Amino acid sequence: MSGGKVEKILSFLEKHYPEARIILNYNTPFQLLVATILAAQCTDERVNRVTETFFARYPSPEKLDESPLEEIEGAVKPTGFYRQKAKTLKAVSRALIERHGGEVPDRMEALTDLPGVGRKTASIVLGECFGQDTLPVDTHVLRVSRRLGLAMSKNADKVEEELSSIVPEGKRWKFALTLGWHGRTVCTARSPKCSVCGLEEMCPKIGVKGDKKG
Ligand code: SF4
Repeated sequence: MSGGKVEKILSFLEKHYPEARIILNYNTPFQLLVATILAAQCTDERVNRVTETFFARYPSPEKLDESPLEEIEGAVKPTGFYRQKAKTLKAVSRALIERHGGEVPDRMEALTDLPGVGRKTASIVLGECFGQDTLPVDTHVLRVSRRLGLAMSKNADKVEEELSSIVPEGKRWKFALTLGWHGRTVCTARSPKCSVCGLEEMCPKIGVKGDKKG
C-alpha cells in the first residue's frame, strides 16, 4: 500500500465529511457504552429511539444492576437480540461497580475486560468520550476499507491492525469516523454509488459486483 494513496484518501475524507460524527445519542461515557452495546446488529437510529426512554429509566450501572433481567429485556427488545443484550448490560454494570467504582474506565484493556465488550465498542468510547486516537472498525469501516484495498481481512480486529499500520497516529479516529460516513452515504452495502464517488479513481472496488475496474 503506497503512503501516497492513504494520504489522498485521508485528505479526501477530511475535506468532504466535516460533519462526520457518532450518530448514537448519549450524555455520559456510560450511556455511550450502553448505546454501543445495543447497536450490535441494529441501526443507530433505532437505538436512539430506544435510549430516549431507556437512559431516563436506567441512568446508572447501579440501577441496571438492581433491575430484573426480564424488565431490561423488554426495554431493549426493539434493538433485537434482546436477551443477550440485556444480559450483557447487567453483567457490564456489575463489573463497572465491582472493578471501577461505577465509572467507565479510560483504558482499552480495562474496557475489553468487561463482559461482552470488544475492541470496536471500547474504541468508540475511548475515541468519543476520552479523546483517544482509536480506530473503531464497524460494519461500514470494514466494508469500505476492503473495497478500497486498504485491508484484506474480514475480521474487524485484524482490519483495525491493518489500518493502524497505514494510517498515521493522530489521524486514526478522524479516519474511522469519516470513512464510516463515506460508507453510510456513498459506499453503501447494497449499492455503492461508484459513479459519483470521489475515490473511484484510486479504488479497486474489491468485492463490488458488476462495477469492477479494468
Ligand atoms: S468507488 Fe465504489 S467501491 Fe470504491 S469507495 Fe467509491 S463507492 Fe466504494
